[in-house]
Amino acid sequence: MADCNDALRELERFLDKELSENARETIHSHLEGCPDCLQAFDFHAELRTVIATKCHNDEMPPGLLSKIEKCFGEDFDGDGLIG
Ligand SMILES: [Zn+2]
Repeated sequence: MADCNDALRELERFLDKELSENARETIHSHLEGCPDCLQAFDFHAELRTVIATKCHNDEMPPGLLSKIEKCFGEDFDGDGLIG
């Protein structure tokens, strides 16, 4: 049985479908009992879908990706730019 750290560590590979069936089962059963991880997986899956759709349609607004990266970056910088 995976704990939250295990589940989140495998998040990217799970979404990339690079995990074995066994590993996916383990993640699935963890998500069924853990709303927090489920939310994190949902968010990342949604983000990928949005980016993939935009890129595929070649309608990616200039600067969107850097905006997204900036949002994530600000969390780590902690230099008071938030808000
Ligand atoms: Zn969890």
